[in-house]
Amino acid sequence: LVSRELQAHDTVVDVGGVSVGGDRLAVIAGPCAVESVDQLHETASAVKAAGATMLRAGAYKPRTSPYGFSGHGLEGLRILREVGDDLGLPVVTEVMDTADVAVVAEAADCLQIGARNMQNFALLRAVGAAGRPVLLKRGLSATIQEWLLAAEYLMAAGNAQVILCERGIRTFEPATRNTLDLNAVPYVKGKTHLPIIVDPSHGTGIRDLVPPMSLAATAAGADGLIVEVHRDPAVAVSDGAQSLYPAQFEKLMSALAPVAAAV
Ligand code: PEP
Ligand code: MN
Repeated sequence: LVSRELQAHDTVVDVGGVSVGGDRLAVIAGPCAVESVDQLHETASAVKAAGATMLRAGAYKPRTSPYGFSGHGLEGLRILREVGDDLGLPVVTEVMDTADVAVVAEAADCLQIGARNMQNFALLRAVGAAGRPVLLKRGLSATIQEWLLAAEYLMAAGNAQVILCERGIRTFEPATRNTLDLNAVPYVKGKTHLPIIVDPSHGTGIRDLVPPMSLAATAAGADGLIVEVHRDPAVAVSDGAQSLYPAQFEKLMSALAPVAAAV
């Protein structure tokens, strides 16, 4: 179902009125996690003013350590919905557990499957049946073929609204958090009709690498970007080191325009 051989034209996914795929670069931005109403509202207002058309923030956070902040759960979903509605931004957020699919699908315009759950087949089936667009992150060590087969699970469960997201893979290189595989963008576009976006935040783990890799991803033909931005990255509860300052994001959006127009 994901194959280009079966469908020649590009799929355009509609997320709460915003298209992912097609001519326009979709820029999703926001903090790693919902921390508070103020934190999310201030950050979301800044990314919206800079031109982002969708808001991201996690209410359920997959953390490497069991002692890390794991998100505000239901209260986080409520805050995310409220801020998204207030600013007129569709919202995307991660669902980690099949038991939470219904509540997350009710609150969010798009369900994110995180890298760590790319091959959680029970979750793929449940999210595939949830009737919401899905943002499917590439697994930490997943091949492109495994990633496309994970997308196939979603489509086989009845969901045609799938967005692929390259977010960096594990390699031997420890200098950056992950190695952003930009090869995947044009390669995947040849294999599938599904839109592909890039996450340079998790892909690099380093704030100052996010703008250049965002530009590179756009030049490579990505349909969109998902970028972590925080009103005050120094106090972020998760992923502060890779989160852009609002002013940096605004500068990035200006730099992206001519590149997006040229591809
Ligand atoms: C995230 O988007 O905050 C996240 C946890 O991403 P990933 O699953 O790609 O690590
Ligand atoms: Mn994050």
